[in-house]
Amino acid sequence: MRKNSVTGRALKLYHSYNPKYFPTKFAEILFNCLAPFFTLWMSSEIITALYEGRNKNSLVLLVTVTLVGNLLIRILEAVLKRNAEVQLTLLQSTEAAAFNAKTISLDYDKLEDPAIRQHRRTIEQNSWINGYGMLYLRLLVETLMECCFNILLSIVLFLEMLSLLINTGFTPIVVALLVGLVVTIALNFAAQSRGSRITAESYKRTGAVMLEENRMAQGQNGFSMDERIYRQRDIIDRINKRMQKLHLKTFTEQSRTEFLSMLPSDILTKVSELCSYLIICLYCSLGAFPVGSVIKYVGYLNKLTSELGGLLSNSKQLKTNEQFLEVYLDYFDIQNDMYQGSLSVEKRSDKKFDIEFKNVSFKYQGTDNYALKNINLDLKVGERLAVVGMNGSGKTTFIKLLCRLYDPTEGEIFMNDFNIRKYDYRQYLDLFSVVFQDYNLLSVPLGNNVASSDTWDTEKAERLLEEVGFGERYATMSRKLETPLYKDFDEDGVNVSGGEAQKIALARALYKDAPFIILDEPTAALDPIAEAEIYSKFDQIVGDKTAIYISHRLSSCRFCDKIAVFDKGEIVQIGTHDELLSNESGKYYELWNAQAQYYTEKTA
Ligand code: ADP
Repeated sequence: MRKNSVTGRALKLYHSYNPKYFPTKFAEILFNCLAPFFTLWMSSEIITALYEGRNKNSLVLLVTVTLVGNLLIRILEAVLKRNAEVQLTLLQSTEAAAFNAKTISLDYDKLEDPAIRQHRRTIEQNSWINGYGMLYLRLLVETLMECCFNILLSIVLFLEMLSLLINTGFTPIVVALLVGLVVTIALNFAAQSRGSRITAESYKRTGAVMLEENRMAQGQNGFSMDERIYRQRDIIDRINKRMQKLHLKTFTEQSRTEFLSMLPSDILTKVSELCSYLIICLYCSLGAFPVGSVIKYVGYLNKLTSELGGLLSNSKQLKTNEQFLEVYLDYFDIQNDMYQGSLSVEKRSDKKFDIEFKNVSFKYQGTDNYALKNINLDLKVGERLAVVGMNGSGKTTFIKLLCRLYDPTEGEIFMNDFNIRKYDYRQYLDLFSVVFQDYNLLSVPLGNNVASSDTWDTEKAERLLEEVGFGERYATMSRKLETPLYKDFDEDGVNVSGGEAQKIALARALYKDAPFIILDEPTAALDPIAEAEIYSKFDQIVGDKTAIYISHRLSSCRFCDKIAVFDKGEIVQIGTHDELLSNESGKYYELWNAQAQYYTEKTA
């Protein structure tokens, strides 16, 4: 049931992307079919008039109608073509936006799921390697429209020719012609189907090779500093030569396969063209129809056989394409199963949102090990919590669970006594400002970045940029908050360093003014002294908000009310800096001494 409706569903999707596209294209194709028909028809009339020696006036009239008609056709053709191109651009941009919107709307764990990432890559590869999927469907529908129009026109002429033959007493010939036509169409269809099947298989092979090439190309960045320092040129050249050889071999094979597979159909078409030419000329000489009709009938009789063959084989291609369409549509069918919640988050001016982790454990999808194990933790309003531990100890995962990017595998997280799953997801997310390690600034003006919006409060944005230490750099920006970041969309864009970008990300987090503010090692690009400075300064700026700081540098977090020490996914210690340091057998003591020794050695 689902399989049969794949093409229909994809067409509906196209209609939703741009309902004007197909009608506009339909008009363009109809016109493109009518234009040569008109020219051929008029040429046939002119030849007949010349042959019959009609008077000058009727000849001038025929030529004038042909010329004026052709001129009008040219103008209309250009208008319709432009219209269709505009609608196509709209269609393509909406299609791309819909695909991205689907990706963005996925639950975070689905976004990261390797199987779903592969699904997305397969759709992209199908499309850019050989156009299979939505693009191929669109092209097939357009070709089918063209086939149908041409068949209709051919049938009109063919019926006219048959009636002339019958009128002149050539009925047996008519029967023979009809039989010949059916046989030719059947043979042509068989030849075309076989040809396109072989070509499609060959395209699949070429696609696999292109993927391999792409993989090889991605694995070697020939412009890196490493290439210069380690003289990697020879290795890269060798890989390039291998790629070139593979490319040449595959594409030579493909063009040979394509040529050989289509050869029987091409020969058949030429033979049937020759036969129809001979038959039509013969009956014209026997007086069945006027001499000018020869070009008209020959042209369209051949079109009838080839376009009917085309109609059948393209319809078959529609079926073949369904397997690729299915991959595309299945992506849109991926369901989010994270519970969205409906409980409204209370608007509290006192920001009293208390958090409690109760026996929370978590495993990433597709892994057997716990990234977090049995986490129990309270966080009261206005508190400063530091999360410390070695790399891979689970600090970021803890934050991702708190922000509901993932739900716990076991245990529960509460906010003001309700499981956080119960809250409206959007409203819950609004409670958090997070600067993740892999934060992302956009190539838009600085003001947009800080405010995460099209409009901004200049006084607030400038004050925050100053407070996070971006003031000096900001003073050099003549366009102030209008200064575009990076040069992707604006030549006057400003490139900022890693440290400066982090400060902008910090200002953005503060601008949101959310009750919780979380910094996940956002100062990694800064030296330890600058980091300690930012952290303590940040503590003043944060004010009455609840703050969580993650750092592998323990010295930056000593001012916090509470420090949770993570080790292999578990909280092994919790307390103030002094409490933790007094336990000489604890993990904190071990980490603290290891780092203190490191700084002492470095400065010594
Ligand atoms: P930290 O922030 O302390 O460096 P993380 O929370 O990033 O640690 O990682 C905790 C553990 O979970 C590590 O073993 C890490 O390899 C694993 N991990 C992190 N992200 C993923 C992921 N997307 N898929 C699978 N495992 C992950």
